[in-house]
Amino acid sequence: MGLLAVGTPLDWPEAKKVADHVREWGIEQLLAIWNRAKGKERDALLWGDEIEYLVVSFDNKKKEVKLSLRQADILEALASDAELLKQGGGVPDLARGEAKSARSAPTFHPEFGRFMLEATPGRPWGIGFKDLLDVEQDMKWRRQIAKDHIFECEYPVTLTTFPMLGDRKSITPFYEPSGPKLRSQFVPDEIANPHIRFPTLAANIRWRRGRKVELNVPVFHDENTPKPWKDPTVNYDLYNWPEDDDVRNGAAKDDYIYMDAMAFGMGSCCLQITFQATNIAEGRKMYDQLSPLGPILLALTAATPIYKGFLADTDVRWNQISAAVDDRTPEELGEKPLKHDRWRIPKSRYASNSTYISQDPRLRPEYLDPDLVVDEKLKARLVEGGMDDILATHFAHLFIRDPIVVFAEDLKELDLDKTDHFENLQSTNWQHMRFKPPPPGNDIGWRVEVRPMEIQITDFENAAFSVFVVLITRAILSFDLNFYLPIPRTTENMETAHKRDAVLNDKFYFRKDPLPRRSARTNGTASPRSGPNTPQPSRPHTPGPVEDEYELMTVDEIINGKRNGGFPGLIPLVESYLDSVNVDVETRCELAQYLALIRGRANGELWTAAKWIRHFVREHPEYQKDSVVTDGMAFDLVKAAERITVHEGRDGFARQMLGRCREG
Ligand code: GLU
Ligand code: MG
Repeated sequence: MGLLAVGTPLDWPEAKKVADHVREWGIEQLLAIWNRAKGKERDALLWGDEIEYLVVSFDNKKKEVKLSLRQADILEALASDAELLKQGGGVPDLARGEAKSARSAPTFHPEFGRFMLEATPGRPWGIGFKDLLDVEQDMKWRRQIAKDHIFECEYPVTLTTFPMLGDRKSITPFYEPSGPKLRSQFVPDEIANPHIRFPTLAANIRWRRGRKVELNVPVFHDENTPKPWKDPTVNYDLYNWPEDDDVRNGAAKDDYIYMDAMAFGMGSCCLQITFQATNIAEGRKMYDQLSPLGPILLALTAATPIYKGFLADTDVRWNQISAAVDDRTPEELGEKPLKHDRWRIPKSRYASNSTYISQDPRLRPEYLDPDLVVDEKLKARLVEGGMDDILATHFAHLFIRDPIVVFAEDLKELDLDKTDHFENLQSTNWQHMRFKPPPPGNDIGWRVEVRPMEIQITDFENAAFSVFVVLITRAILSFDLNFYLPIPRTTENMETAHKRDAVLNDKFYFRKDPLPRRSARTNGTASPRSGPNTPQPSRPHTPGPVEDEYELMTVDEIINGKRNGGFPGLIPLVESYLDSVNVDVETRCELAQYLALIRGRANGELWTAAKWIRHFVREHPEYQKDSVVTDGMAFDLVKAAERITVHEGRDGFARQMLGRCREG
């Protein structure tokens, strides 16, 4: 998560004073990149995936599990493994964007939580189908390498959140909560990666906001859960910091699990896919077309039903991370009239996308948010510098935020060969898609990052979702699919994805007909329209009202298609794409296993991890039907997650637990 520059970080009041300066320099750096790279062509269509892990430590005798805060030692062990380095793996000096040589071992990166690891393949994946089949093995390899560099009692699990995070007993080694940076009741400052960027980020978000971050997740009401339910872990009698007043001022709400630190959000793990486009136009198109898919991917990967030892009434991590980094002031939040701040801002820095960026004639102005907040002055500078209006709008929207971590050393002179000021804002805008310009000084092209997915328990599942996202992207480009939807509908869909079992029970706004107008097709390229099962609705040439273009659909309809014609379904579109290219039978079979997982999740045959975890808790002998997840339950749950990954693919247990239908 961002580049780890070193230096002397400014406290918030000092950082605030130089915010304009950082933004202006960031915009100049962006223009320099733009002018250098806007015409960059024929980059290879590459992709990469990122897996985030929680490192847990088991005490099998005591039946205890804790988060291990040994990230630094583990990264050090990985970095000094000569064998691994020979294969090009280990820990890279530069964080993202580093070009990799041929076949090489995976690389490991720090993440926000001191209990987290992140791993990426040693080289980007290419266009070939072979790579799609290698990704699962590579993910297994990554987990094995991580396992080989940690203690015998430790394991890298891929649960989104640790079920007991926030409980004093949940970390090893132990540190007292209520430190000066986070001022959290529940977690110590040492929960965060010690690199100065992370505690500063957390402290300055709190400082800018004027109070601690506030995460309230609705509790799941079971038979014996009191109503109203009051979070029993909240301490109303703490007086270490002024922020301890937050709970006395109503920060903790009835029927909500209350959390108060960045770690409760950014300590969550996700699965991300980054594409390198062949040129900027293709990248912009991918960004726009994948954006409406975000909430669907979130619902399909739902894996987060527990917070701080309680069952939640939601299934995903998204809004919690959003709240965990929400630095908006009361004025920006609309709680007070605007006096010192410039705007009311509807969303946190971590949120769903707010605008589209493609110069696609199919992008109707009606899809854009008329109330999008942009910094007009910075936008004017971008336009004056040669950037087109729609991309300038996107960046001028990201730049309404203040830089949170500013290093004194970086303010001396503007270096247009660097991107530090630009990245400062860009990398602390955590939207569900990210458009990434080419970094200077190497060969990397324009990239698009897909960020909504929750990490899955097994490597098979993580590979399946990676493969699916890659294939749907290929189908989008190959068939020129159109998923445009008014952006506020995507915002609503993101909320819907939070609901318990949204994947089965809820409906999402989705475009009715993604296929291009036949008259618009100029060459004889394959089209899913030519398939025998694809409906052929008539297409008016003058577009009707935008509201007629989309409707509410279940995830099953979006993924598998509507039974009686209408929306063809993303999986059938992928199948049409595979039909249109030469894939050998064996590869096709292998890919089919992955697509079967997505299909089964959508039609309810297979469970999400959220459903499985919730079920595991509710069936546990210690469960009192009161929403409480005990230490014993947490131990058994995390142990089961470990066992599933260790025995994945060979063990009936794993398949049974996840309801999977894969051959061994
Ligand atoms: N872990 C964060 C998430 O779950 C993302 C951090 C990152 O951008 O790498 O969305
Ligand atoms: Mg990450």
